[in-house]
Formats: sequence, structure tokens, C-alpha cells
Amino acid sequence: MFFADIAGQTEVKERIQRMANEERIPHALLFLGNEGSGNLATAVTFAQYVFCTNKQNAEPCNQCASCQKVNKLAHPDLHFVYPIASSKDVRLSEHLIRDFREAFLANPLMNQQDWFNELSAENKQPTIAAEESNNIIKKLSYTSYEGGYKFMIIWQPEKMNASAANKLLKILEEPPDQTIFILVCHHAEQLLTTILSRTQLVKFGLASDDEIAELFHRKYGLSDQLARYCAGMAEGNQREALLIAKEQDSHVAQLAHFQNFMRGALNFNVFKINPWIEQTAALGREKQKYFLQYGLQLLRECLLLNSGGETLVKARNEELDFLKKFSAFVHMGNYERIVEEFNKAYYHIERNANPKILFMDMSLTMNELLNSKKPA
Ligand SMILES: [Zn+2]
Repeated sequence: MFFADIAGQTEVKERIQRMANEERIPHALLFLGNEGSGNLATAVTFAQYVFCTNKQNAEPCNQCASCQKVNKLAHPDLHFVYPIASSKDVRLSEHLIRDFREAFLANPLMNQQDWFNELSAENKQPTIAAEESNNIIKKLSYTSYEGGYKFMIIWQPEKMNASAANKLLKILEEPPDQTIFILVCHHAEQLLTTILSRTQLVKFGLASDDEIAELFHRKYGLSDQLARYCAGMAEGNQREALLIAKEQDSHVAQLAHFQNFMRGALNFNVFKINPWIEQTAALGREKQKYFLQYGLQLLRECLLLNSGGETLVKARNEELDFLKKFSAFVHMGNYERIVEEFNKAYYHIERNANPKILFMDMSLTMNELLNSKKPA
């Protein structure tokens, strides 16, 4: 990972880069920031930067052996502690390291809820128990594998119970050699004040809309306009902005899929409809059902538009542009039958109908319906 993959936080990045470059890293840091501030991702990138043997322009190289290990969250001197729902077989964070790696690598901006969902802990409240603190002592008593620093990243230290917190405090009072603790925390008010006073505070602010938009444009290739929209909606929360971008992406794709079907059906053209049918058949049943549901939703919006209820339309901008034109083909004379077609298709898809035959039939019927005259 690169520091540049995290939106904003310029001051924080400069400060910790300086610590690493000057080799003056405090033994305990508190990375305090809201969810979506990227404080966990920054902690990992910081460790990567310190370990990196070929630092470049204040970034890790992302290629050396150390970087590669960190990128898999498998560096032997990089340890993690996080809340878990303990059971007979799972008593320590390390018992769930595979799940943690998978979750973090899929989304380095994951929040507490994302992780808890991963744990499928049902009604259990995940915590960091005292046993974990004993394990920290054990782990850090070995010398580092690679001869340099050892990092212990404790994510959500606010989930420590009292005895775990007190044990951690003892460790922070007499830290093992060459060890750096990073407490990645969202709610400092839930931490023991004695722990707070043993750590050096690194406070994460909110990324600005411009910073998030710039990152999304650069890293994910989002258009300037869409990047700004996502940033504006997320109010400085980078995780949230990413979710909005993904949702937008799938919705733009859905709309295009619907448009292509209706265009192919309207002027029934085998060369247009066949590739569409092939593509849709390959999507699988759940996505086919989703397409039909989405279509039903757009058809309802057409009806609203036609009855002069534009303000009721919940569609987004691109949808509205399309619906203003498409609604001319939907009227009281065909609306019910079109809806019936969609519902019928949904029913048959659920019962394993052959999607190629089904959508071919449907497009022929749609051709007839869309071209039927509006009743006078
Ligand atoms: Zn490197």
C-alpha cells in the first residue's frame, strides 16, 4: 500500500514519515480518528514504510521483500490484535488472522461493523480479553525476525475489558526493546486515561471533499463529476465514499443493461438482442431477478412521470434523463401487460426456466407492447 491510497491526512502522513526517516519513533502511538479516516490503513502503511528497504519519495516501494510481506499482512514482525468473539477454539486474535487478512485486504478501510459481520458473532459482543495481553507479552519477548523494529497494531483498543487494559498498561510502562505499539482507536473516551497518557497522540481529521474526489479520480478512474458526488455524499468518510462509488457503479451498469434490452426489443433486432441475451444468461439467476426488479421499478417511475408526478420520481439524474424519453412508450394501454411480463419472467426464473428462451420470448412480447398505440 501507499500513503497516497489514503485520502487527505497530509499532516499525519508528514509527521509519521518524519518519525521513520529520523528513526525517532515513539514506542507507543495512538492513531485516533473517526471510522473512515483510514487510521488502520495508515498504521499498516506506516509499518510497511519503516520495514521497506527501498523507500522512495516518502512512500514504501511496494516491491521489496518486506513490502511484499506487508502487502499480504504476513510480515513476521508485524502483529495484530483486534476484537474477537471468543469461543472454545477461538481465544486469541491470531486464531482468526486468516479472516482478518482477508477482510483487511479486501477493504483496508473496513470499520468495526464490517469486521463484526465477518465474524458472524451473532449476539456476542466481540472484545479483547486479558488472555490477549498475555499473548502480546509472549510474542514481543522474541527478538524480531528481520532484525529491526517489531510492530504491534492494536485495532479498537476501546474493546479491551478492564483486565486486558490493565495488563496492556503494564506492557506500555515497560515496553520491550525495538517494539512499536500503534493503538488504532475510534473512541478515545472509552480508553483508560492511563493508557492515553502512555501513548503519543496522532489525530486524524476528516478528509476534505476535494481530497477524496482527487483520490477516487486518480486511483479508481472515476469521472471528476462522479468522484465529487461520492465525496460530497460521504462527508469526509472515505469508507462511505467508496461504498457510494460502488453502488453508483452497479446502478449505472444496471441502467445500461435495461436500456439495451428495451432498445433491442423496441426495434426488434436479433443482432442487438442476441448478445444481450447471451450476456444476461451468463449472469446467473440472482442477477437476472435483480434486473427484472429494477425494470419494474423504472416502469413505475414511467407511470409517475406520465401522470405529471415528476417530483415523485426517485430516480437519479441519468435515470431521469432516460425515463423522460422512454416513458413515451409506456402508457395506460400497455403498462399493465408490460408489468405482467416482468412479473411472469421473475416467477419463471425463480423456478429455473431457461433464461435464453425466456428473455427471447420476453423481448418479442415487449416489441409488440412497446409499439402498441397509446389509447386515445
Ligand atoms: Zn519496499
